[in-house]
Amino acid sequence: MSKIPVGVLGATGMVGQMYTSLLADHPWFEARYAAASPRSAGKTYAQAVEGRWHINRSAVSAAGWGEGVGGLIVEDANDVSKAIAAHKAGRCAFVFSALEMGKDEIRALEEAYAAAGIPVVSNASAHRWTADVPMLIAEVNPHHADLIPLQRKNRGWDKGFIAVKPNCSIQSYTTPLWALMQKGYGVKRLLVTTLQAVSGAGYPGVSSWDIIDNIVPYIGGEEEKSEQEPLKIFGEINGGGVLVNAAEPKISAHCNRVPVRDGHIACVSMEFGVKKPSIDEVKKIWSEFRALPQEAQLPSAPERPVIVREEADRPQPRKDRDADKAMAVTVGRIRPCPVFDIRFVGLSHNTVRGAAGGGILNAELLKHKGYL
Ligand code: NAP
Repeated sequence: MSKIPVGVLGATGMVGQMYTSLLADHPWFEARYAAASPRSAGKTYAQAVEGRWHINRSAVSAAGWGEGVGGLIVEDANDVSKAIAAHKAGRCAFVFSALEMGKDEIRALEEAYAAAGIPVVSNASAHRWTADVPMLIAEVNPHHADLIPLQRKNRGWDKGFIAVKPNCSIQSYTTPLWALMQKGYGVKRLLVTTLQAVSGAGYPGVSSWDIIDNIVPYIGGEEEKSEQEPLKIFGEINGGGVLVNAAEPKISAHCNRVPVRDGHIACVSMEFGVKKPSIDEVKKIWSEFRALPQEAQLPSAPERPVIVREEADRPQPRKDRDADKAMAVTVGRIRPCPVFDIRFVGLSHNTVRGAAGGGILNAELLKHKGYL
């Protein structure tokens, strides 16, 4: 099968670099178009990332970004006409958006790409709360992709669309919660405390003076995202094709930045409704959980979306973040909670599962469903 040529907007950033690395050996997609800020435009990709290449993954090629990508001339992501030309020339069937700029600017820019017929699979938060834009975790709400025809109709778009992925911090608990909900164990209330890696803040991110020998108990906007985004993901599409957000669980989040390179931890206490699972049932449900990406054998899907560790001191970022292509959520410390019902610790790799890897898995899902 010849590979589908794709573009990466924000290709020079923390998430963009992970995109080019993961696409380097992807069986379906290859990066043939790169765009970033006007500061990088006109440079080769190799020049633009020189001195700020952060990806240290043994799985990627020695060059890191894949054959041919180093020589690509980086375009200005604000200039949609460049992407349209690449699209027409067969070098950019759709784009991954990993831009970091003002929300209104990203919203308008992603809409301009979609209106030009270029689908956008985005990591940015700008469109997460746009009613007709699906916010996808491929194992949890793949059916929300079916909002795309409505989105196209609403906006008069022919081939373009926007699909987004949620915030990185919620990955560590949303899939485990969904696995329990699927088995009839509704979660009513949730307390979550996240310990989030510095790569989550992009580059240069948090000042070394702020994070070495320290924990910062505030990440702007993160607690709101952690509390609200799962409700859209757990929502249902009603008879009229409109997504109705879930009312539960009610979530209280504390988000902290910690001096860890990659991997977000979430310490979670869950309160169930009338039907409460035992600890053994929770472990069994999580160990056995499989969903559409596994059944369809999508290339980036982890074999086991949720990995249960029995050791008293796991999961840990350094030991567990790369589990199953860095796409699995590792859970441990599953035990009774004296205030709610059951508590656990979840971990996911924030720039892979929580960003570029999750975006690529979403694109694989969208291709599987015929939208790409
Ligand atoms: P980053 O390291 O700061 O990279 C930002 C990218 O955006 C760079 O390619 C940069 O280009 C480009 N950019 C900045 N200003 C621009 C402008 N005015 N016009 C066009 N392009 C511009 O950020 P990041 O951590 O990769 O995050 C990227 C996006 O993913 C953000 O929306 C973030 O919220 C989201 N996200 C990040 C994570 C994570 O773990 N880091 C997880 C989930 C979602 P230059 O290099 O030329 O400046």
